[in-house]
Amino acid sequence: MNLILLGPPGSGKGTQARLLQEQYHLTLIATGEILREEVCKGTPLGFEVKEKMDAGEYLSDDIILRVFEERLLQLGDKGVILDGVPRTLNQAQKIDDMFNRLGLEINGIIQLAVDDKELIKRISSRMTCKACGASYSHHKATCDKCSGTEFMRRKDDDPETVKTRLDVYNEQAKPLIDYYSTSNRLKVIDGMQSVEDVYKHIEKILGLPLARP
Ligand code: AMP
Repeated sequence: MNLILLGPPGSGKGTQARLLQEQYHLTLIATGEILREEVCKGTPLGFEVKEKMDAGEYLSDDIILRVFEERLLQLGDKGVILDGVPRTLNQAQKIDDMFNRLGLEINGIIQLAVDDKELIKRISSRMTCKACGASYSHHKATCDKCSGTEFMRRKDDDPETVKTRLDVYNEQAKPLIDYYSTSNRLKVIDGMQSVEDVYKHIEKILGLPLARP
């Protein structure tokens, strides 16, 4: 099963992607996370992308597609879930080509819809584990993933940068959404619901859990 989750920053796609990844043993490709790791490790790529990421701007399609394809080719026979990619029409078209070339099907493209006011509220209370980058919507004493105890706010989660990120998203997402909608592949879910309800809704749309024979 191969899935794409679309939605603005703070719409909960990272949370849902992780739940689906665990439940259905999928490989997660979250470009933002991959690139934050590169920045953290101080690699040449990390150095190249840091400034734009800190400013909440999109990186070039070339960089994103290179990073993405590298991960896609390592998949083996596991299914994949995409979080934060594609974000532009060009990325979507190129990703379709990559899947076609590999003989893979995209089984679900799901958009989480959340209004801007709620997004800003969610992002402003988001905390990130300093050690592993796991993100939480509320204060935590210990990280569930790595047991780290130090938390911080992502640099691009400050209110001014969030505004830039939402503007960029709103501008770039439209052609992407149109592209998937016109081919009838897009399913939109109300992302204002609780995490559990959004998750159930996604499973329902995908016909999961699969009925046993
Ligand atoms: P995210 O963690 O998905 O919010 O991504 C953090 C940042 O990484 C974005 O604000 C962009 O600077 C960059 N980024 C991640 N994925 C993409 C993408 N598909 N296209 C362009 N820039 C991206």
